Amino acid sequence: MANLIVSKQADLLDRMAVNQPKQASGGTRLFRMTSWKQSFASSCLLRFSIFLLLSLPDAEGKAIWTAHLNITFQVGNRVISKLGETGVFGNHSPLEKVAGVVVLPEGWNQNACKPMTNFSRPALTESWLALIERGGCTFTHKIKVAAQKGANGVIIYNYPGTGNKVFPMSHQGTGNVVAVMIGNLKGMELFHLIQKRVHVTIVIEVGRRHIPWLNHHIMSLFTFMAAAVSCFFLYCARRARMPSAATRRRRQIKADVKKAIGKLELRVLKEGDKEVDVNGDSCVVCFDMYKPKDTVRILTCKHLFHKACIDPWLLARRTCPMCKCDILKV
Ligand SMILES: [Zn+2]
Ligand SMILES: [Zn+2]
Repeated sequence: MANLIVSKQADLLDRMAVNQPKQASGGTRLFRMTSWKQSFASSCLLRFSIFLLLSLPDAEGKAIWTAHLNITFQVGNRVISKLGETGVFGNHSPLEKVAGVVVLPEGWNQNACKPMTNFSRPALTESWLALIERGGCTFTHKIKVAAQKGANGVIIYNYPGTGNKVFPMSHQGTGNVVAVMIGNLKGMELFHLIQKRVHVTIVIEVGRRHIPWLNHHIMSLFTFMAAAVSCFFLYCARRARMPSAATRRRRQIKADVKKAIGKLELRVLKEGDKEVDVNGDSCVVCFDMYKPKDTVRILTCKHLFHKACIDPWLLARRTCPMCKCDILKV
């Protein structure tokens, strides 16, 4: 059963992987690689949680119904009756009680795959159940072959070497024929009895609905954890993008400031200028007096400073140190 569920999940993942759109490339490669990895991890986790959800036993599809088999046969004068929860109903079988004489396919091959397979049923028997070996063809095929010959129910026993392992068979399209799987050991026991011409009758009754608690709870826990971790990854991926947008904005502003600084007027002071006068101003950034041959930058507000002093100031603050005039706004 576990193998069946795993293979269904693998199919689902394969299909989803095929449908996964291709990622774009180029631009800021490192960032994209990181976010791509995060998105990929998130989508993987989301897919993981989806298939876990799909694999949870639900009310209709995945629940397993056991079958009680009441086996009766006569050895000498003794009538032996054995009751046990030895079978599992097929996934597409009606959940109904059915009873009858157990009948084998004729010939050495017990898999009932040939459409012409005959069953050695006693002439007067009204209700009979076909006992068929697993393998050679699909469960649907075997069940249909037996149903066409008039079987009221089909018991399929597992491969040799599987002990008493059973699982719910998949057999779509077999209508209202009751189909049950039993283990190989139990099947062989019945086979040998019938081969010795022992009259075996079986009453199949619906047993219990079975959901392995371990699977159910661990699957639920994993589903929750996978969903939580994928949300965390999505959150991290979003957080990783936000600082990058801010960085891009900062870079743009810096470029604009550089451009605006480049457009500001430059002047080289010379003897006789009022700025180099004894009573002249000093640069408010470095507090040095202006001297001839100093290169000064004149802002749009007409305040002037040493070029070497004001350029880094403007790059960092973009406002005049004296009047706070923003060089980008003027
Ligand atoms: Zn200065
Ligand atoms: Zn100013």
